[in-house]
Amino acid sequence: MIVFKEVETLTKYISKIDKTHTIGFVPTMGALHKGHLSLIKRANDENDFTVVSIFVNPTQFDKAEDLNKYPRTLNTDLDLLEKVDCNIVFVPSVQEVYPVNATSEIFNFAGLDKYMEGLFREGHFDGVGTVVKRLLEIVKPDNAYFGEKDYQQLLIIKKMVETEKLPVNIIGCDIYREPDGLAMSSRNIRLSKEQRKEAPQIFKTLNEAKEMFKNSSISEVKAYVEQVFQKNKLLELEYFEIADASSLKPVTTKKPGEKYRGFIAVFAGKIRLIDNIALN
Ligand code: AMP
Repeated sequence: MIVFKEVETLTKYISKIDKTHTIGFVPTMGALHKGHLSLIKRANDENDFTVVSIFVNPTQFDKAEDLNKYPRTLNTDLDLLEKVDCNIVFVPSVQEVYPVNATSEIFNFAGLDKYMEGLFREGHFDGVGTVVKRLLEIVKPDNAYFGEKDYQQLLIIKKMVETEKLPVNIIGCDIYREPDGLAMSSRNIRLSKEQRKEAPQIFKTLNEAKEMFKNSSISEVKAYVEQVFQKNKLLELEYFEIADASSLKPVTTKKPGEKYRGFIAVFAGKIRLIDNIALN
């Protein structure tokens, strides 16, 4: 496994890889867990070389405190990457990624960024688009892997790659969960014992919403989810939304033949957790 900190040395190395070989890329913000490793395993299985980046991207954080408190566990991350046979790790500084200034490009995501995360985290998706575009231009992978854990992000990146005409396949990967259902997240290590014990309520409620969705109206399902969290002292609901699975536009009525997804964001103290589920 080779670790690069600089764009120049990384691109030089990658340019020497035989063009008949495929490169799979997994961008991360580190504090790696089994969810990340599942993406890396898939990239390993489907490509000749796997590149993983670890970069806590400042332009996608709307709150300085969230950025400052984001877990950073580089040495453990590198040990894990070695064990899963990652070939190349890119750990750039902010200066290396943003040589001029760390500001976001403004994208047209065809409305995909107008709801849910886009509504509650101002500028978040322009920040994500900016860093992913830059990383894809540096690494030039054949395939890049993103988790459905961040479903809205996955669709936004697919849209960005399409509009920017970047020559890469964007591959969505299943959400990897703890045995009790909590979606794995780098933020989970910040949860207190009590918060961690309550957190599986998020996925439990999503499953209940899915069951209810079969025979109840959208407003009934939403009202159910809201009252579950009103009763919970440790988890505060930021939003629960039912949206069209392709346009991500929130809906108030179901149409036959359409696919819907439930999206949730919950605060455990100051720690923000998100999850989502296919409803039909
Ligand atoms: P992050 O380090 O949180 O930016 O995540 C890097 C990539 O891993 C993103 O594509 C995430 O969607 C994905 N990811 C994070 N958590 C999970 C999970 N529990 N299951 C699957 N993919 C995940």
